[in-house]
Amino acid sequence: MPTRYDLDRDALAELLAGEPRFRVDQLWDGLHRRLAAPDEMTDLPRALRARLAEELPPALTPIAESSSQGGTTVKWLFACGDDARIETVLMHYPDRTTVCVSTQAGCAMGCGFCATGQAGFDRHLTTGEIVEQVVRAARRARDDGRRLANVVFMGMGEPLANYDRVWPAVRRIHGDIGLSARHLTLSTVGVVPGIRRLAGEDLPVNLAVSLHAADDRLRNELVPLNRRYPLSVLMSACADYLRAKGRRLSFEWALIDGTNDRESDARRLADLCRSLPLPAHVNLIPLNPTPGYPTRGTPRAGVRRFQEWLRAHGVNATVRRNRGTDIDAACGQLAARVEAPRHRAGRHARPVAVSGRAR
Ligand code: SAH
Ligand code: SF4
Repeated sequence: MPTRYDLDRDALAELLAGEPRFRVDQLWDGLHRRLAAPDEMTDLPRALRARLAEELPPALTPIAESSSQGGTTVKWLFACGDDARIETVLMHYPDRTTVCVSTQAGCAMGCGFCATGQAGFDRHLTTGEIVEQVVRAARRARDDGRRLANVVFMGMGEPLANYDRVWPAVRRIHGDIGLSARHLTLSTVGVVPGIRRLAGEDLPVNLAVSLHAADDRLRNELVPLNRRYPLSVLMSACADYLRAKGRRLSFEWALIDGTNDRESDARRLADLCRSLPLPAHVNLIPLNPTPGYPTRGTPRAGVRRFQEWLRAHGVNATVRRNRGTDIDAACGQLAARVEAPRHRAGRHARPVAVSGRAR
């Protein structure tokens, strides 16, 4: 059965055949603008509400919820209809609220330092499963007195490997939920055909490329997809993207102790950034711990040094604040396990079971 946000407007119209035409708009608006479940839409007749609640079930059932830093980071573990598991993370910052959504259950790209990659691929998420993560996060933000304005496609999975479902979700989040395209960011490990496709789209979303290494030998090791799309091919796709969109691109760089945090790495990275038609911005993320990868993240002083080397070579870099490491909600830590991870002791935040069914 299709779920609540899997149907497009035409399919909903079919479901509402026999009802007055304006009901389609009411339902569409209720789902996307008001973030409401069918049984909450009191502007619809009671019998219709009941039928829609049956025929438009939610895609996601919350299994566990954890929060940290005084509730400013919330992570949900959801079960999909076939029991595939995914995670979604909501982050309140002083000036903005952002949700990090998953696009696949698992990931097939096999980056060894990433918990999702370590767990392997389960399946693509549907458009409805992606949109519903945003709707649930936006509802929570509203309950917290905040407005969700940013969506980053940086949860589990590789968005550009699931292009045909991710892009319709982007359109829906922009056009129907009403978030600005400039506040939507797709992150890719370097799926070149996807970058090329994205260059032809009309919405000005942001693109982040997870680079992590600026020479093929090291990148082949860290990011197996590099063997298929080596740096020269990736950079030429990035350059074409920039020429087509005229929007700045950012590179993600997970700093791994003694591996990609040397001065020579900074120099090579700076050269790549400056080789593009518009210089790329760099986001530095000290590697977060995951169960299957022994090397630690670069310590604080090394991160600052790396940032200064980049600056000295004319490249701007920001250090990503670490959010939710205590609940395994930070970059690269999403693995959709229910039990508390055992690789760290002394945790304060434990997953809280969520009872009852999803609305
Ligand atoms: N598959 C996409 C998007 C999801 S990963 C991609 O790889 O870009 C989101 C970001 O987290 C990527 O930049 C990824 O490289 C980074 N990441 C993965 N594992 C990490 C870890 N252990 N510590 C810090 N960042 C990590
Ligand atoms: Fe997949 Fe991104 Fe993790 Fe690599 S870093 S395994 S592409 S989710």
